[in-house]
Amino acid sequence: MDTFSVDTYKSLYSGCRLCPRDCGKDRKDSFGVCLEPDRLFIARAALHMWEEPCISGESGSGAVFFSGCPLKCVFCQNHEISTSKVGKEISVERLIQIFFELKEKGANNINLVTPTHYIPHIAIAGLIAKEKGLNIPFVYNTSGYEKPESLDLLKDVVSVFLPDFKYLKKETASKYSKAPDYPDVAKKALEKMVSMVGAPVFDKDTGLIKSGVIVRVLVLPEHTNEAIDIIKYLYETYKDDIYISIMSQYTPIPSILPKDKEYDSLRRKITKREYDKVINAALNLGVKNAFFQEGDVCKESFIPSFDYEGV
Ligand code: SF4
Repeated sequence: MDTFSVDTYKSLYSGCRLCPRDCGKDRKDSFGVCLEPDRLFIARAALHMWEEPCISGESGSGAVFFSGCPLKCVFCQNHEISTSKVGKEISVERLIQIFFELKEKGANNINLVTPTHYIPHIAIAGLIAKEKGLNIPFVYNTSGYEKPESLDLLKDVVSVFLPDFKYLKKETASKYSKAPDYPDVAKKALEKMVSMVGAPVFDKDTGLIKSGVIVRVLVLPEHTNEAIDIIKYLYETYKDDIYISIMSQYTPIPSILPKDKEYDSLRRKITKREYDKVINAALNLGVKNAFFQEGDVCKESFIPSFDYEGV
């Protein structure tokens, strides 16, 4: 997948192996785990104020929400789009227009949300937009469940990676995302991301990120030890070459959670005590490049409306 052109991008959707699910489906007439065809569907394109300060800044991040998702966590905060219930078909040309419209509205960057299964469309649109003079960074906002060779397609487009690191234990990855390979996959994907964009660089005047990797660790109820182990792994492996964003915003959505008792811990928010435990452990490890969340950020009102704004 080294060379890439408008003529060939569609071929990557036939026998699709873009992500670690390795479905091998021809997305022209069948679906893999992501539930998306070889045509592009998005649910929202608008300024988003709730990312890390170096991404949202004062005027917002230009977030494009892609329909579908290859990972499908049982607790997904964006379940309306990850389950492909919401989405409007657009062309590559329209996606390029949207990038420019977001910049016009004041976006500090183009924030590609759950983009994995649409990498070919994004790579083409991003390259053309840059050729046409789009000069704000592309932020690749992902679950972390990625293939290094697919990320390669974005090497001339994306300068900021914003991956989650969700699980370090196979058991948790299997239970919540049916992806026992997630820990190994996410480690390799992160290694690739850091090799592609290097240590974080910020604008001296605005503080906005220009390039680099920010890894998000969402603390789940009753999983503080796993969150701490993830932070330990990240810090021991990458020291100050990445930022770690430790998130308290887990928002339970009872209607989507499996009824089984083994998922009961997901039916509540995390407590202040749980979050403080993780933060204190990170500080004790010596982590300095970090973002924390303050106040009550676990509200469904922070989940965007997938109402086709900007589409
Ligand atoms: S992108 Fe979708 S169809 Fe392709 S391998 Fe991943 S889940 Fe399967």
